[in-house]
Amino acid sequence: MKYRLSTTAVSVADRAEKIANPGFGKYYTDHMVICEWNEATGWDEPELIPYGPLSLDPATAVFHYGQEIFEGMKAYRQPDGGISLFRPDANATRFARSANRLALPEMPIDLFIKTVEELVKTDAGWVPGKIGEALYIRPFMIATEVGLGVRPTNKATYLLIATPVGAYFDPSKAVSVWISTEYVRAALGGTGEAKCGGNYAASLVAQKAAAAQGCDQVVWIDAVERKWVEEMGGMNLYFVRGKGADATVVTPKLTGTLLPGITRDSILSVAKDLGYKTSEEMISIDDWRDGVASGEITEIFACGTAAVVSPVGQAKSTMGTWVTGDGQPGVITMQIRNTLLGIQHGTIADTHNWVHKVL
Ligand SMILES: *Cc1c(COP(=O)(O)O)cnc(C)c1O
Repeated sequence: MKYRLSTTAVSVADRAEKIANPGFGKYYTDHMVICEWNEATGWDEPELIPYGPLSLDPATAVFHYGQEIFEGMKAYRQPDGGISLFRPDANATRFARSANRLALPEMPIDLFIKTVEELVKTDAGWVPGKIGEALYIRPFMIATEVGLGVRPTNKATYLLIATPVGAYFDPSKAVSVWISTEYVRAALGGTGEAKCGGNYAASLVAQKAAAAQGCDQVVWIDAVERKWVEEMGGMNLYFVRGKGADATVVTPKLTGTLLPGITRDSILSVAKDLGYKTSEEMISIDDWRDGVASGEITEIFACGTAAVVSPVGQAKSTMGTWVTGDGQPGVITMQIRNTLLGIQHGTIADTHNWVHKVL
């Protein structure tokens, strides 16, 4: 790793003010990591440099054919003032899989984790302190071969930036969703399992359609039968069947079109640890509507690194509107959220070896 530290880093007072009210992606830390790859010589040594704009030829491949992948992860302040990552190996592995699908070079797992550790150490002062707050870390990779020919790139650039984020969880507000029967997020053989910008580019018109229906988010159903529930926006979904100790915590099965969320995977373990039954299965829109009507489905929530857990309330579709719960987050939803956050922030024992100490 080469280092060129910022000479214009923001003052401690300015930084404290920004961290106190960080929003999401409003402020970036003083540094970033850049690492170049080319087909002939592989990965260069990564460089940690001052945060700043890139200069790219307008004919750079990524601008034209969208060859881009990314990750999303967080660094969490610990009770002793230290900082830990949560399952960075899982992000590194998924990044390599996404790279493979987008015909980009795989970054070695150790190199990926090393870049994250070095940025977090250097900009440690940007990691907020309260539970639910974190430093959000965004690794990404773009195709940088210059030329308009359509082909897998022979040059790529990996970049890593970070932004402090607040605990933007409003417990009094469940998310309303529009179940889209018009647009499709992913089909088998496509890029649904890869974390690539293109998936998001294609999703925004559906998000707009959801907003036009008065809903906060879009829910995706499968491309073939147009009835199996897949994801909500950029998050995975969970349904709670039954109540109390007998409840089953259910999530749509990974069919090859869903993004395999690390939060989704972690919640399967956390729910088991809490004594609930868990299940990965196919859930149809009819199951959703009927389960809510009969009272069998008691809670629904979406999950992902950014928001951790978001309760889902009203669901609207061309088949009608139905509401789960009373607009307040469910008991099991909150229990799972608090347990996961506790593990991430080091206040609950990490029995799965998920927490990766950086400082
Ligand atoms: C990133 C992402 C998720 C959540 O993944 P986590 O690893 O839990 O953050 C879910 N769905 C989509 C489409 C995503 O891009």
